[in-house]
Parts: sequence; structure tokens; C-alpha cells
Amino acid sequence: MEHDVVVVGGGCVGISTAYHLATRTDLDVGVVEKEHHLAVHQSGRNSGVLHPGFNYEPGTQKAEFAVEGTRRMKAFCAEHDVPCEEVGVVVAARTRTEERRLDELAAQADANGVEATVVGRERLRELEPEAAGRAALHCPAAASVDAQQYVYALAREAREAGVTVHLDTRVTGLERTAGGYRVATDSGPLDAGVVVNAAGLQADRIAHSVGVGEDYRVVPFRGEYYEVTPDRRGLVNSMIYPTPDPELPFLGVHFTRRADGSVIVGPNAVLAFGREAYENTDVNLGDLRDALGYEGFWRLFASPKMVRVAAVELGKSFSKPRFAAAARKLLPALRDDDLVPSYAGVRAQVVSRDGDLVKQPLFVEEERAVHVLNAVSPGLTCSLPFGEHLAERVETLV
Ligand SMILES: Cc1cc2nc3c(=O)[nH]c(=O)nc-3n(C[C@H](O)[C@H](O)[C@H](O)COP(=O)(O)OP(=O)(O)OC[C@H]3O[C@@H](n4cnc5c(N)ncnc54)[C@H](O)[C@@H]3O)c2cc1C
Repeated sequence: MEHDVVVVGGGCVGISTAYHLATRTDLDVGVVEKEHHLAVHQSGRNSGVLHPGFNYEPGTQKAEFAVEGTRRMKAFCAEHDVPCEEVGVVVAARTRTEERRLDELAAQADANGVEATVVGRERLRELEPEAAGRAALHCPAAASVDAQQYVYALAREAREAGVTVHLDTRVTGLERTAGGYRVATDSGPLDAGVVVNAAGLQADRIAHSVGVGEDYRVVPFRGEYYEVTPDRRGLVNSMIYPTPDPELPFLGVHFTRRADGSVIVGPNAVLAFGREAYENTDVNLGDLRDALGYEGFWRLFASPKMVRVAAVELGKSFSKPRFAAAARKLLPALRDDDLVPSYAGVRAQVVSRDGDLVKQPLFVEEERAVHVLNAVSPGLTCSLPFGEHLAERVETLV
């Protein structure tokens, strides 16, 4: 079996790359996915929020992709009957310091061309009567999407444009050949002119196997969610976020009204004992050894602030009252009983050998391969322009 291009990974990034390659070129494209379904890992286990770009530094690729991705995904969902609701978001400020930060966010939104307004307490009460806060940033363009249905709709389009999707097929190795790569899989080899490695939580391992990206490694962080019971969903109209602390890597628990009308709370950010460890009791010794044997991991946790945050997040993972207490800072009327445990996702948080969290999309090009080392959040929002960008890069390699 051979393809001009083999894409490893049936998440939103891999499928978007395959879709754009098939619709822009005559190349024969195959997607290889180890699971029986698409979007089983990060692409199907996220908050499903289209982040319109108010909180990303202007001029960065992340800001550019988020702004364009939000616009394009809304249009795609409308055209393909994928549930997508433009519910908007309020970023609530509870202190004077946070209020000042809202002005910075509003300026960032402006620079990124995103509509966002700082509103006072009264307007916040109209938008979200139960939210805590003295002021808020209101961004009406934020939306909730059904991420799995989106990936399936995109895959349908890709297949119609000629892409072959090989499910239940795990890539076990890459070997350079005269014409590109021989991709070893547990269902037999595939020959590829070019390989796109979009394997998410496992992408660094595939890249390292051919000597690429060795200064970066995935450190898995689990994000756990609770759902608000149906009779109490009325506490939240849209999405309620805390004001981000620029010194912390993750936002902290927040409220999201999903495209199906349910309301989820989370995610937290717990160091996971495995790259696909969706329960707090799941342990994968190989993954754990990998993380603990990495100097970047120890440099990251050399900071007392990171250790403190990790301990607090772990507490929220094992104690529902602590999780609920964190959520109550944004929604004081919330009771512990209003929450039922829901799903979890694991973020492929890329950490450099120096111990820095890599915050921008990162891919490395070789002569006959593109390795997506960091499809950082909001990778779902960014997936259409990011996949198109990767497809453009592949076109220069074939
Ligand atoms: C908890 C959480 C909340 C998030 N919330 C949001 C949000 O609200 N909005 C947003 O825009 N983004 C969000 N994100 C980020 C977003 O989900 C990711 O950036 C995006 O899904 C990454 O997509 P991907 O295709 O790179 O990875 P994945 O979806 O992980 O896909 C990689 C695929 O590769 C496959 N694979 C791995 N190894 C192999 C192998 N050896 N052989 C074959 N196949 C292999 C895997 O099975 C998987 O299907 C969130 C992420 C998490 C974890």
C-alpha cells in the first residue's frame, strides 16, 4: 500500500491537513489512526469552545489562527449541520487587579480585530445574573461546537475528495527510503512520499524516532470536568471565565454552555500519570518514567509556584468539595450537589528541555516530513487554518 502523503493521527489537525491536501491538490492522501474512531483523544475530549482570539498576543500565529479559525469553523459547521452555538463569553474580574487586566485583554482583542467590550457590574448581571465579579469583558463571538461531529464532518468531506482513512492502524515506526518514508504499522507497512506526523499526545515520540524535535517532550496534563445537573443549568447562560493570570499556564475552572445545552465546569489541570490516563487512578509506567526522566520536567517544577499549582489541582481532582469551591468563586450560588462527574481530556503540554511550556503552535519540517510537535490549545479552534498551513508546507515537499 502506498500514498503520496501519509498523515498520522485522526484528530482535528490530521484530518484538517488531509482535507486541505485533498481539496487543493491531486495527491493521494492516507490518514492512519490507531483507534477505531476519529477524535478519540484531545479532539473529542475538550471543552468544545471556539476561542475567538481576545486573549492571544497580537501578531502571533496562535492569535492569527484563532481569529480565522473561529470564523471559518462557524461557517463550516453551518454548512455541514454540525451543532455550533454562538453563546458568547464573559471574563469576570473579581478584584481591582483583575479589572485592570480586562483593559489589557480588550486592547488585545482590538489589535486582533475581535469585538470585546469591558462592561460594569450591572451589564454583567444582565448577561450572567449569577456570576461573581465587579466587571467583565464580554466577547459575543465565542461559540460552543460539537467537536467530534465537526471532525467527522471534515473527514466525510476529506473522504469525498479522495482521502483514505485507515482506522485501527497504529504506526509503530518510520524508516527513511529513497522515495520518502516506509511507515511501519501493526497492519503492515505503508510507503509514503511525505509523512505528516499529527499524532497529538504521541507526536513527540514519533518525531524523536527519526531524530526530530528532541528538545521537546509532551508532559500530559489531565483536564477533568463536572456537569451541572439539568435542573440547575439555568445558573449559566453562556460561558463564564475567570480573568486569566498571565503567570499561570492554565486558566482554571470555568463554566461552558455546550452546543447541546448542557453546562460543564472545568477543566482543572492535573499532572497525569499517563498520556491517555483519563481517570485519576490510571497509571502508565512507561509514560510516567518518560516524564520523570526528562530534565525539562524537573526544570518546570523547579518553580515553587508550579509545585503549588500542581498540588492545588491535584486536590481538586480527588475532592469534589474542593472542585466545587473553586467553581463557586465564579458562581457563588453553585452547590456541591449541583455537580456530577463528567468526562476528562489529557492535554499534550509540550515542555522544552529548558523547562518552558511551549505556548505557540510548533511544527518541524524535514526533507520529506512535517512533524506537528505542538498543536497547543486552542488547537480545535485553529484546526482549519492550521491544517491548511500544514498542507501548504507539504506541497513544497512533494
Ligand atoms: C481538556 C482539554 C480542553 C480543551 N479545550 C479546548 C477548547 O475548548 N477549544 C479549543 O480550541 N481547543 C481546546 N483544547 C485543545 C484541542 O483539543 C487540541 O489542541 C486539539 O484537539 C489537538 O488536536 P490533534 O489532532 O493535534 O490531537 P489529537 O486529537 O490528540 O489527535 C491525535 C491522534 O493521533 C492518534 N495517534 C497517536 N499515536 C498514533 C500512532 N502511533 N499511530 C496512529 N495514530 C496515532 C491518536 O489516537 C489521536 O486520534 C483542549 C484540550 C484539552 C485536552
